[in-house]
Amino acid sequence: KPHIITRDQHGIRRDHISSGALKVTSGLQEAGYSAFIVGGAARDLVLGLEPKDFDVATNATPEEVRAVFRRSRIIGRRFRLVHVMWGAETVEVSTFRGGPSGETGGLGADEHADEHGRLLRDNVFGSQEEDARRRDFTVNALFFDPVHEEIWDYLNGYEDLKARRLRIIGDPVRRYREDPVRMLRVVRLGAKLGMEIDPDTAAPISELAPLLLHVPPSRLFDEMLKLLLSGHALACVTDLQKRGLHHGLLPMLDVIREQPLGKRFITLALKNTDERVRQEKPVSPGFLFAALLWHEVLASWNAYQATGERPVPALHLAMNDVLAAQDKNLAIPRRYDAIMKEIWMMQPRFAHRSGSRPFRLLENPRFRAAYDFMLLRCESGEVDEELGKWWEAFQHASSREREAMLISDE
Ligand code: ATP
Ligand code: MG
Repeated sequence: KPHIITRDQHGIRRDHISSGALKVTSGLQEAGYSAFIVGGAARDLVLGLEPKDFDVATNATPEEVRAVFRRSRIIGRRFRLVHVMWGAETVEVSTFRGGPSGETGGLGADEHADEHGRLLRDNVFGSQEEDARRRDFTVNALFFDPVHEEIWDYLNGYEDLKARRLRIIGDPVRRYREDPVRMLRVVRLGAKLGMEIDPDTAAPISELAPLLLHVPPSRLFDEMLKLLLSGHALACVTDLQKRGLHHGLLPMLDVIREQPLGKRFITLALKNTDERVRQEKPVSPGFLFAALLWHEVLASWNAYQATGERPVPALHLAMNDVLAAQDKNLAIPRRYDAIMKEIWMMQPRFAHRSGSRPFRLLENPRFRAAYDFMLLRCESGEVDEELGKWWEAFQHASSREREAMLISDE
């Protein structure tokens, strides 16, 4: 039934396949099971890219996989997967699963959806073809057998991939209702892979965008983080806005449209992030979220000060308000609160350039992050460029030069 693409046609480079993925697929096949590299890894191999991590799909049950590999463990409650350890590598192995969009359509007895059609359970084992159909896009539903060097393609994903066409599997409206996060995945993968979005896949998105409000915030956060760290964050965020997907998700994006300074600031922050990701430099999500929320904090800070509150307490109140409001939507995990607050709290301190204060700021372990943040504020036009230049010079000056640089606060 599947279309088989052979080595001379696909030309996948063997040196792009990790030793763990090879070992796991060949080990399962020697034990009598079928096993394939699937999902993003199979897709990236066809594109000539080197996948970051490998997922394997098999007809063996988790217990059977476990029995083949000594260094492995079963994880997950909702979907039971096996992590197989090979050297420093971990390969994720999942058993073929069926889904509501399989042959029969409709929801089976073991599947439940909420009142919006969102799928709450889809952990039933299925055939290989069903496993292809429950995936999101045709280009993500290829099975690559690295032992025989064959691609098994049930849904014309290979042709779509070669044509750089992103097409959702099955009926778009039903698939988005089952899992609204797929709408964000369209945007992310379209930008990341430079793919054109099939018109039928794109059409229902604007109308169904409000379904994202019913997705658990922690899942939204995971997918948004992937999007923001994709190396194409600016393109993705622009596309989210174009498709009306940003409401409730990134409320700050609504605000900044009427605030030219805020828009410039976020654009710069996303551009910087994209450059760092593409140069494979580390990116701090805390810094990024601090930047995305900064102009909300600023607005609230100004409002509190207008009521007569002193600057520092006003900033505390503003930060807490903004973080509490975010919690309802995107749910930025608590572990990022500390770094975001530190970066924000350090901003007013850059204005003080007299006495011992600039020396103490320089000693702060978060100085670098706060300084980079301040430079973004300069570059976006919120703060005078002169302040950034002063701090740049101050950092690199000798102690004698530093003393001479001090300026008394106005
Ligand atoms: P990346 O290379 O950025 O990780 P990916 O396609 O591998 O992209 P993952 O989130 O790692 O994305 O998902 C792995 C695979 O699982 C996908 O290729 C797809 O086949 C399937 N998948 C992921 N999310 C969904 C979803 N929401 N609905 C259906 N299938 C999905
Ligand atoms: Mg992946």
